[in-house]
Amino acid sequence: MEKSNFIWDFIDEDLKAGKNGGKVVTRFPPEPNAYLHIGHAKAIYVDFVTAERYGGYCNLRMDDTNPLKEEQEFIDAIQEDVAWMGYRWKHLTYASDVFDDMYRHAVELIQKGLAYVDDLSAEEIREYRGTLTQAGKNSPYRDRPAAENLDLFERMKNGEFPDGTKVLRAKIDMASGNINMRDPVMYRIQHASHYRQGDKWCIYPMYDWAHGLEDSAEGVTHSLCSLEFEDHRPLYDWFLAQLPVHRPRQIEFARLYVSYTLLSKRFYRVLMEKGLISGWDDPRVPTIRGLRRRGFTPEAIRRFVETIGISKTHSVVDYALLEFCLREDLNARATRRMAVLDPLKVIIENYPEDKEEWFEGENNPENPDSGNRKIPFCRELYIEREDFMIDPPKKFFRLGPGKEIRLKHAYYVTCTDYRTNDQGEVTEVICTYDPASRGGWTDDGRKVKGTSHWVSARHCVDAEVRNYGQLFSVEKPWEHEGEFEEILNPDSLSVVTGCKVEPALSEGARGEVNGTIEGVFQFLRLGYYSVDLDSSPEKPVFNRTVGLKDTWAKVQKQD
Ligand code: ATP
Ligand code: MG
Repeated sequence: MEKSNFIWDFIDEDLKAGKNGGKVVTRFPPEPNAYLHIGHAKAIYVDFVTAERYGGYCNLRMDDTNPLKEEQEFIDAIQEDVAWMGYRWKHLTYASDVFDDMYRHAVELIQKGLAYVDDLSAEEIREYRGTLTQAGKNSPYRDRPAAENLDLFERMKNGEFPDGTKVLRAKIDMASGNINMRDPVMYRIQHASHYRQGDKWCIYPMYDWAHGLEDSAEGVTHSLCSLEFEDHRPLYDWFLAQLPVHRPRQIEFARLYVSYTLLSKRFYRVLMEKGLISGWDDPRVPTIRGLRRRGFTPEAIRRFVETIGISKTHSVVDYALLEFCLREDLNARATRRMAVLDPLKVIIENYPEDKEEWFEGENNPENPDSGNRKIPFCRELYIEREDFMIDPPKKFFRLGPGKEIRLKHAYYVTCTDYRTNDQGEVTEVICTYDPASRGGWTDDGRKVKGTSHWVSARHCVDAEVRNYGQLFSVEKPWEHEGEFEEILNPDSLSVVTGCKVEPALSEGARGEVNGTIEGVFQFLRLGYYSVDLDSSPEKPVFNRTVGLKDTWAKVQKQD
């Protein structure tokens, strides 16, 4: 059983008090105006896991009350992403489906003298609202008789007035210490087509009015949301208390902040429009799409949100933790392959020109069910350029004149010579191999210190590798509102072409085989790499997903 948290403590309390007939119903309510990001993954986790814990269910609700920004594309993507992360919602609902009920309830409030049509302009309303230290002023329209309000509100709905000329406001308390309670706007006039409702409406409800009614209509018992809604809770409660409807309980939790990332849909839209990122699925962007393309697994994302847990105070989670969770999963499940990113030719002098051999290499030593693949070997190979030095220092256990190393899965080779070009750059390394070391070991107990990865020059495939750095060059980009473009890291993407990869890497669609993740690989000694969407068997393209080294342990030690 997972450790409890303040949300579950509240729910336990409610259950003990016999509320909601023992039921727990939650919802995840994204506005379908963008793609989901890792911050949403936390909210999704909180909503779904809470419902599951109490044997209840969670709805996926499109909070589509704003006609200008919402689109079917986002509705589809949100469902796909939530499902990809492994969550199953009970009902798919749309806030706009209860617009009629909201309207009806607004009429009820007017009849009770609890709402009025205001002719003040948006700017006047702001002025009249007062400040944190100063009470607000009543609107001159506040005491309109109910009959007049009913008539005006109906005419607002019928489209008789231009945008911005009137609003419907709740009549609460212009002197309230909580500014949200100073006669909040419930409806605005907006002559706009809604992607789902068409031209049926020219008034649209505001968040605070709509949200509680959406929750109530769905029988939500606990409405879990992020901390910025804490000050809105009195209003949430007030609206529901005035109406003969089911009353859910709102509970707030801390928003997720991850160092070096910005969890804001708005911002990524701007970057996209300016061509600074390739799309919602750019592998540098912490959208679910971007993470997925980068090579993240649903398991890694879930482990991450589980690890950070549910808390009531904001804190910044280190990006290294996200990588740690990913690495844990990939280490267990990613298929191993050899790739040479910066190739240097090796010629095995004593290996016959026309000969080739196929060695067996395990797909994943951590997983005995994952099987082997065949790796071709011949006279000409590539190794990593940094694995050879003309004049190596003592502790260099790679290749150098006179040195012997193991070529992983193949043979011991000894460097006998090398060739350089006019600039003094090494162009070829000449070696001999020891036929008795077939498979990468000998009977005579002779030890070699270094093992290098390699590919056969005759069989390998050319590939492109895309390396990524952080999108931002500062740790807390959210503290730089208004200057996001200036703090972008100019080196967040670097493309390396001419990499050489073993032939088994030119196939590699996504999916799961024998507990391994297809499409995400460990390149031996280098890191984890995922097949990019731009990849084809003829021209493989890989994203660097994450390195092999754990930087998280280091971060923790510093703390
Ligand atoms: P953005 O600022 O990116 O537009 P949002 O909060 O407006 O985000 P919504 O689509 O309204 O996005 O979010 C749906 C739900 O996800 C809300 O309940 C919201 O509280 C939650 N959520 C969004 N971002 C985070 C985050 N960084 N951490 C935790 N929860 C989040
Ligand atoms: Mg929002």
